[in-house]
Amino acid sequence: MSERGGVEAFTVAALELLGGIAEPQAPGLYTVLWPDPVAGEPAVRQLAFDPELMDEAPDAELVSFASPALEHLLQQATASGRVARAYLHAGANASRSTAERLARAYRFLESAWTPQHGRPWWVPAGVFLFRVRYLSDAREEDLVEVAITLTDGRLLRRLGEVLDRHGLVAEPLEAWPMMAERPAGEAYAGARHELEQRLLAPLGLRRRELESRLGRESGRAQAYYAELIREREEPRAALPPDSPERVQVDSKLLAIRREREGRLAELRAKYRLSADVSLLSVLRLYLPRVVFTGTLAGKRGRAELTLCWDPIAQTGEPARCSRCDGLTYEVGLHRGGGAACPRCLDGGDRSPRRP
Ligand SMILES: [Zn+2]
Repeated sequence: MSERGGVEAFTVAALELLGGIAEPQAPGLYTVLWPDPVAGEPAVRQLAFDPELMDEAPDAELVSFASPALEHLLQQATASGRVARAYLHAGANASRSTAERLARAYRFLESAWTPQHGRPWWVPAGVFLFRVRYLSDAREEDLVEVAITLTDGRLLRRLGEVLDRHGLVAEPLEAWPMMAERPAGEAYAGARHELEQRLLAPLGLRRRELESRLGRESGRAQAYYAELIREREEPRAALPPDSPERVQVDSKLLAIRREREGRLAELRAKYRLSADVSLLSVLRLYLPRVVFTGTLAGKRGRAELTLCWDPIAQTGEPARCSRCDGLTYEVGLHRGGGAACPRCLDGGDRSPRRP
C-alpha cells in the first residue's frame, strides 16, 4: 500500500460518499464527476495521483496530501455533514492542583517549572473507520478504527474506553477555544500508516496459512501430473524414434505439461492474498485539554515552557523540545536558550565520548 494508493483510495472513497463518480482512465488517473451542491450540476474534472502522469494529461489536477483538490473534498465532506462531529462529554479544570499534578508528570533536569496560567481548550481528533477486505480463495472483512489528534498527529490508543466512560454530545458543554489543526491530509496519512502497521500481523498470518495450503495443493497436482507423464514416457522409450505413435505420445506429453503449468498458475492465483482498504467514515471528535503556560528556571537561566494536561487520561502530554521538535517527559534548559530534551541537552554540551 503506497502513499499514492492511500490518497487515491481516500479521494475516490470521499468522492463517492459525496455522490460523485470516479472513472479510472489509467492507473492513477481519473475522470470524475465532482458534485457541486451550489450549482447543482456536477463538474467534470480530471485527477492525477502521480506527477509523472502530468505529461500524458496536462489538464489534470495533481492530487497529493494537502493539495487544494483534496482539501476541497474534505471541506465539502465536512460541510455536507458526512463527516460527523461530536464533543466528548467531559469537563476540565485549570486549578492550581491540576497544575501541580501536571508538573509531576515530568522530570525537570536541574531546573524547576512554575505554572502561570491554565486554560481549557478543545483539541480536535479524527476517528478514521477503515474497512479491510482480505481477498483470496475466501473473503473476509475487518473494521479497523484509528484515532489521531488533528493538531499534532498523535495516536489516541484508548479512545474506545474513553468514549464508553464519558459519552459524546453534539454541542460543546463549554465554549472553549479550539486548537489549530494541521492539514487533514496529514492526519489521514498518519491514520493510514497506523492501519498498515496494524495489518502487518493479520496479513502475515493469512499469507502463511495460504502458502501452506498452496504448498499442499501444488504438491498433489505435481504428483498427479508426474504420474500421467510417467505412464506415457515408459512405453515411449520402447518406440522407434521416427514412428507415428511416438509423435502422438510427444504431443500428448506436451499437452499434459501445458495443463500442469495452467493448473499450478490457477492455484497460485487462488491462494494469492490481497487486501482492499476503504475509508468508511471520519468522525471529528473534540477532546478537552488544559494548557498551562509557565516558566522553567534553573542555573542556566529561564525559558517559557507550555505544558498540556489531559483530563481524560489524567496525565500530562509530552512536552515539545524547542531544539529538535521531539516529544519528551524529561526537560531541561539548553545553554543556547529554550527548554530541550535530554538528547539535545547532551549533544549541545559534551564533546563526543572517546571509546
Ligand atoms: Zn530535543
